[in-house]
Amino acid sequence: MNQPEKTAYWQNLDQQHHIHPFTDSADLNKKGTRIITSASGVFIKDSEGNKYLDGMAGLWCVNIGYGRKELAEAAYKQMLELPYYNNFFQCAHEPVIELSKVLADITPAHMNHVFYANSGSEANDTVVRMVRQYWNLKGKPEKNYIVSRKNAYHGSTIAGATLGGMAGMHAQGGPMLPNVVHIDQPYWYGEGGDYTPEEFGLIAARKLEAKIEELGADKVGAFIGEPVQGAGGVIIPPSTYWPEIQRICQKYDILLIADEVICGFGRTGNWFGSDTFNIKPDLMAMAKGMSSGYLPISAVMVGDRVANVLINEGGEFTHGFTYSGHPASAAVALENIRIIRDEKMIERVRDDIGPYFRKQLATLEDHPLVGAVESVGLIAGMPLVADKKTRKGFDKPGAVGTICRDFCVENGVIMRACGDRMVLSPPLIISHDEVDELVKRARAAFDATAKKIGVM
Ligand SMILES: *Cc1c(COP(=O)(O)O)cnc(C)c1O
Repeated sequence: MNQPEKTAYWQNLDQQHHIHPFTDSADLNKKGTRIITSASGVFIKDSEGNKYLDGMAGLWCVNIGYGRKELAEAAYKQMLELPYYNNFFQCAHEPVIELSKVLADITPAHMNHVFYANSGSEANDTVVRMVRQYWNLKGKPEKNYIVSRKNAYHGSTIAGATLGGMAGMHAQGGPMLPNVVHIDQPYWYGEGGDYTPEEFGLIAARKLEAKIEELGADKVGAFIGEPVQGAGGVIIPPSTYWPEIQRICQKYDILLIADEVICGFGRTGNWFGSDTFNIKPDLMAMAKGMSSGYLPISAVMVGDRVANVLINEGGEFTHGFTYSGHPASAAVALENIRIIRDEKMIERVRDDIGPYFRKQLATLEDHPLVGAVESVGLIAGMPLVADKKTRKGFDKPGAVGTICRDFCVENGVIMRACGDRMVLSPPLIISHDEVDELVKRARAAFDATAKKIGVM
């Protein structure tokens, strides 16, 4: 078979047998799947020989970039030595023990224990079970409400989808988990009206206080939030938001959960979003950048307050996965973290490439469609709007974003549309030249979009 024949063959099989995640399959089958065949650095290639600059690091996860042999070798070596053994029944193995120590080192000082899972969703399921078990052990089983936020993303299992605040996800496959409630998000650009961002940050945070007062503090066990909402469109909260959330959690004795699945492992210019925003979480969910996506692994980092109770007062914690702390995944995560550390990737995001990324993206602010460029570290969101002055969006939310996303692909850059917010989260190793290239291709896609909708 020649290359076009191969592509057609794969597309045909894919269409016949494969149900894709977050996909309208009927629509996909009309267009045909893009078959991704290889990747290196910040670029991916498809079966037709097209090369794309991956502005999303896969799904916000390939932090150290594609093609690092060290990670492949770590997995290979570990699989030859011990491909699998579980951490149940009085057992453990070297990579999982070493990884636990390293995670205790790089997470905030009061977090010293780890529970492993295989995806961000599983980590958040684990969080729910831990929160409930914690309050059970404290003699307050009725403190089982969890407060989350609209437009949050916490995964796709029932618990993950319930914690998340995505209306489209709640609309399918209900009923959801009971006793999870959602307050407004701290989205100043879209919802802040005439308030300053700082005023609006306080207003959004105090929605938590109002919800706790409404339900009763004796009913609320935890608040969960992404330091920066990722899939919601890279919503970076005003500076006043997290300190106020922290104050409220303390005042009402509510556990604070940071979902670090995207923000963790350098994305915001520190090891964790909690460092960047000065959050002191009781529990942290981690995944994605933990292994740079080379193998699946996730974890819940447990703060001392919760760990002491779970470990010393709980007896058996009846929770775990066959692959909790899988040796090959743990070995890959360890090597990934070593590389991030040794190559000073996080310092580079904070001091060099993050600020450069911001500066270059900001040149797009003159574009008629781009309402703003918002970024921290190497994660950015750009709302496409109908009126830049009033920050007013389009009548049919998401339509222009989808057009723009398709033009991005056509112009050789992978950018994602969350509604009408174009988002970027490139590998941390992106070079200055590659940032320039990314911005150039993004502008071409914005121009094509503007022309198509008759704005230019
Ligand atoms: C991706 C994501 C999840 C879910 O992780 P999966 O590995 O896809 O289950 C949870 N929380 C956040 C913030 C995410 O971005």
